[in-house]
Formats: sequence, structure tokens, C-alpha cells
Amino acid sequence: MSEFSFTMDGSVHSGPIVYCEEDRSVEIPWEWSGNPNYDICFAPIDLRWFNKEHQLRILHKLLLWLKDQNMKSTIDLPSEIEITDQPCRWANCSERRIKGSAYCLRHYDLNLLSG
Ligand SMILES: [Zn+2]
Repeated sequence: MSEFSFTMDGSVHSGPIVYCEEDRSVEIPWEWSGNPNYDICFAPIDLRWFNKEHQLRILHKLLLWLKDQNMKSTIDLPSEIEITDQPCRWANCSERRIKGSAYCLRHYDLNLLSG
């Protein structure tokens, strides 16, 4: 696995998390959520410089890193993942959605990415 790091930057209310991997770095903007259930919130995350599978890996690394920092965010998965009988709402997906979401696990993740 390649070397990578996350750095929290900016003020207490907003800023980027800077993701560095080898010679590339990407800023992932966040804002203080103002919601008691979350510490910080994210807009759809723009990682267009990487291919989709790579983007998903970065997303998972970000989730683990946020957990290490004890930071709750709007991109966290529910603590208990339950698959429902309902179909995923993503076009042409035949998987079933997870409880509390309109999407299956994969599309839940893809939905967080903008690129
Ligand atoms: Zn799906």
C-alpha cells in the first residue's frame, strides 16, 4: 500500500483535511456541522484526480482516520449495518439498500463522491 497521510487544517469552524499520497495532495473541505449528532460535515467529496476504485479506497481511509480522531461526521456509516428488503435506488442496481439509506453499501459510498 502506498504512503498517505491526512492533516486537519483551517480554523475550528471549517477548513480542509489535506490528503497526501506520494507526490499528490487533495484538499477535502469540511465545515463544523452545528448538529449534535455530528462534529463535521462534508459536501460531496471531489477526488476526480483518482480513478473510482482509488477514490473509494481514499474514502475508506478517511472514515477510519476520522474515527481515530474521535470525530463524527456526516459520511459515517451507521454503526450497525442492516440490509433491508428494499432495492437500492441507484439506477440499474440490483442490490438491496442498507437501513437508513436509499442505497446499497457500494452506492452509499459512491454517493459521497462528486467526481
Ligand atoms: Zn446500489
